[in-house]
Amino acid sequence: MAGLLDGKALATRMQTKLTERVQQLHTQTGRAPGLAVLMVGDNPASAAYVRNKEQACARVGIASFGQHFSVETTQAELEQTIQTLNHDPQVDGILVQLPLPDHLDSVALLNQIDPNKDADGLHPMNLGRLVRGEPGLRSCTPAGVMRLLEDYAIDLKGKQAVVIGRSILVGKPVALMLLEQDATVTIAHSRSQDLAAVARSADILVAAVGRPNLITADMVKPGAVVVDVGINRVINPDTGKGRLVGDVEFEGVQEVAAWITPVPGGIGPMTVTMLLENTVWSYCQRCGIGWGE
Ligand code: NAD
Repeated sequence: MAGLLDGKALATRMQTKLTERVQQLHTQTGRAPGLAVLMVGDNPASAAYVRNKEQACARVGIASFGQHFSVETTQAELEQTIQTLNHDPQVDGILVQLPLPDHLDSVALLNQIDPNKDADGLHPMNLGRLVRGEPGLRSCTPAGVMRLLEDYAIDLKGKQAVVIGRSILVGKPVALMLLEQDATVTIAHSRSQDLAAVARSADILVAAVGRPNLITADMVKPGAVVVDVGINRVINPDTGKGRLVGDVEFEGVQEVAAWITPVPGGIGPMTVTMLLENTVWSYCQRCGIGWGE
């Protein structure tokens, strides 16, 4: 039976440490770190994510400068808001909650964010820094995956890692981060042939697709480490109630794998925690304080 990679427990420990650190920094500089989450429209999933992020900020002592825009808001209005936040000395991190309504160009908006306040690590400058292996703000979900693997001392050097999914949000950056840790990385996607065979070659299997139960036990090498990034809401036809599941068929795969992340309670809480850490990291950079000082 696989051991659980308990993201929730690690996230709680990290947030406790961050709370102490933020208190020290606040006393030292007279200012709390600040994060602005911009949300457009009323997508219930996005609203829940934003609430979750703002509550986490409040827990660790980060000030929230979030703004909520109506679904009719314009590109120009959002760009103007981002420019104002870029110049606001109280704000250390800016995040645009995705997805945006179709009439808005999310790439153009992300490009407007000051790369040194890019709490989500999605600005081309920060993605470039990742490709080059330079320090910089790293995207939160991939960074959360790596921190969880590190905490459980999962050996990556020379291991076969397979990432399923090639999005700029998760698949591509997590593949680069695994490569940086000397894994031999394969990226599979919707056009890959014989996904099962590719997945079975993995010592480390990361699923970031958005399809419930895509990864079944027969696709997993015995003893593999399985990281399930997917978050899918499925409705029980008998009760009509929804619940969250990942991309991995958990019950079957936990019989085969050595380690597995649960959903919920795996990468989700790590993502929020890395957002908090990015905000504090960027605050320290901007105040000229070393991260560990
Ligand atoms: P996306 O839709 O942008 O990308 C999905 C990727 O999966 C694509 O690259 C596509 O090629 C690949 N894919 C689709 N169908 C496939 C198939 N049948 N076989 C193999 N590959 C296939 O999604 P995303 O933004 O990368 O998110 C992926 C999942 O991770 C979603 O469920 C999302 O909700 C979840 N997510 C979770 C967190 C978290 O905090 N845990 C954060 C971000 C995203």
